[in-house]
Amino acid sequence: MQKLARPQEYDAIVVGSGASGGWAAKRMSEAGMRVALVCAGRPLKDGDYREHVQPYELKYQARANDLLRRKQPVQKDCYACTEHNSDWFCNDIDEPYTTEPGKPFSWQGRMRVTGGRTNVWGRHSYRYSQQDLKGYSFDGAGADWPLDYKDLVPYYELVEDYVGISGMVENHPELPDSKFQPSMPLTCVEDKVRSAIKTKFGRTMTMGRLANLTTPINGRAPCHFCGPCERGCITHSYFNAAFTTVADALKTGNCTHIPNAMVYQVTMDKATHKARGVTYVDRITRETREIRAKTVVLCAQALESTRILLNSAPDGLGNSSGVLGRYLMDHMWVAGGGSGEFPDMPGKPSLNTAHRPGGPYVIRFRNTAKGERSKDFLRGYGFQGGSQLNFAYGAPGFGQAYKDAVKDGQWRMEFSGFGECLPYAHNRITLNKNVTDVFGIPVLHIDMSWGDNERAIIRDMAVSAGEMLEASGARNVRTFSHEDRIPGYGIHEMGSARMGSDPKQSVLNQFQQSHDVKNLFVMDAAGFPSGACQNPTLTIMAMAVRSTDYLMEQVKKRNL
Ligand SMILES: Cc1cc2nc3c(=O)[nH]c(=O)nc-3n(C[C@H](O)[C@H](O)[C@H](O)COP(=O)(O)OP(=O)(O)OC[C@H]3O[C@@H](n4cnc5c(N)ncnc54)[C@H](O)[C@@H]3O)c2cc1C
Ligand code: SF4
Repeated sequence: MQKLARPQEYDAIVVGSGASGGWAAKRMSEAGMRVALVCAGRPLKDGDYREHVQPYELKYQARANDLLRRKQPVQKDCYACTEHNSDWFCNDIDEPYTTEPGKPFSWQGRMRVTGGRTNVWGRHSYRYSQQDLKGYSFDGAGADWPLDYKDLVPYYELVEDYVGISGMVENHPELPDSKFQPSMPLTCVEDKVRSAIKTKFGRTMTMGRLANLTTPINGRAPCHFCGPCERGCITHSYFNAAFTTVADALKTGNCTHIPNAMVYQVTMDKATHKARGVTYVDRITRETREIRAKTVVLCAQALESTRILLNSAPDGLGNSSGVLGRYLMDHMWVAGGGSGEFPDMPGKPSLNTAHRPGGPYVIRFRNTAKGERSKDFLRGYGFQGGSQLNFAYGAPGFGQAYKDAVKDGQWRMEFSGFGECLPYAHNRITLNKNVTDVFGIPVLHIDMSWGDNERAIIRDMAVSAGEMLEASGARNVRTFSHEDRIPGYGIHEMGSARMGSDPKQSVLNQFQQSHDVKNLFVMDAAGFPSGACQNPTLTIMAMAVRSTDYLMEQVKKRNL
């Protein structure tokens, strides 16, 4: 790698322009700080969004998955990576990683576009509760977060007001309500299931809390229910950092966006033991450059941020505790659940129907503060799912009889669990110094597997999904539990640079600031000491705002 040019100096460098980086850049540049937003991704325009492009308009009519797999064998396993948008994801051959023999990990959603994963995310947005943050105090596993739910509330509210989250108020202790826009509706089958499982089990199925607008905000239109949000949205109706937080940061004139920049290392000033800036490889020219700043904020997504720290010093930067890389978590998803049919419910399937961009959510009901504790496992899980009125493609017959029978479709409802994975020291990432990516940067070696607790949760998901569907009157109920579901499919990697009050046992403090290097912050989910079972991004964003506000206070006090 050849070094070029004199480094430029900023007040802050933010690495990554996704959920966390967008917020850090917006807050600081709106407060007048000069920010460099350095991101491996390239910008997209509204014209690049393809939510209204039909498969038959594509070169391979969305039928050439094997062709995509040649360059993207891992990314293609992500349900959101299709011919419509596969060029937003990384090329797995150019940017590999390695895994421990016998322990596969599917590192999906490695985005290479401005906005990161928020371009393609599922938009389910849930707060964590006090019990979620204090799991260790509740059952002795893992570690508590070094902050309380009440510390996060003002930041949740700020983020929710800006992002726009539709949902139903439930007053449920396990899932604190957000500040909601009006909810999207449940279907008639979902209403039936909601009421049956409340009556028979006391469980709550609510409409998914979605970062899809039902009322306009900040020039963004309400959702028009076209469906495939993972291909983009020309009306900006779901939350994508690219056209919200990042756009706001750029509007200030204080934020310099450096796209196509693969950050390699945090550089250090040896005299002051402070971060001096970052080096990055330009993805197009392959030149290596350095930029400098008074503060460095890593927001490259948990695994990528920790990779940068591991590449920055022989034993990892900010690793006096020795725990950098450890306590990696993901959610167990598509591992356990069930489905059933509702032939008695009315309705005719149609191709021209509205496509609600998300389904209902069953709130965690195992090992709750006031409920029974399971003998088989700690923590719990929620379900995402939904109902569809499908055509009866498998109907018997020929000609007109078949055409009529196909239209005589029926409702089907499914549940897929999202389970909490405990943080284990042995689930970790290290550098594989023998393998580099196409930019010459050493790659990650991932060593992760589920333990007995995770497998017990997966088994229980099938049992409870089956009993809820049966109790709701579903027929042909089928359940599944895949204890060998590969970690990574949850696409919710958390941990590997955990927060804590004790610098001997953690990498970051409660403001995601390095214990060792005071002007270095990691504001994505790398700092999560535990992962709850709810989707993490709303909490990632609330934490990023809280930590950025703390950073700015420290700048004012000249403490960094
Ligand atoms: C298909 C899918 C569905 C999902 N559904 C949900 C959901 O329903 N609810 C939910 O809460 N979460 C969901 N998630 C997860 C959610 O998208 C992430 O939790 C969130 O975006 C993480 O934010 P982040 O800022 O850490 O990283 P990202 O949003 O991924 O942003 C990271 C950015 O850093 C850049 N980057 C990476 N490495 C480098 C580097 N070395 N140098 C410079 N830049 C770098 C990337 O290009 C990217 O732009 C989903 C994810 C996927 C892929
Ligand atoms: S379903 Fe709504 S949010 Fe999703 S792409 Fe269509 S209009 Fe946008």
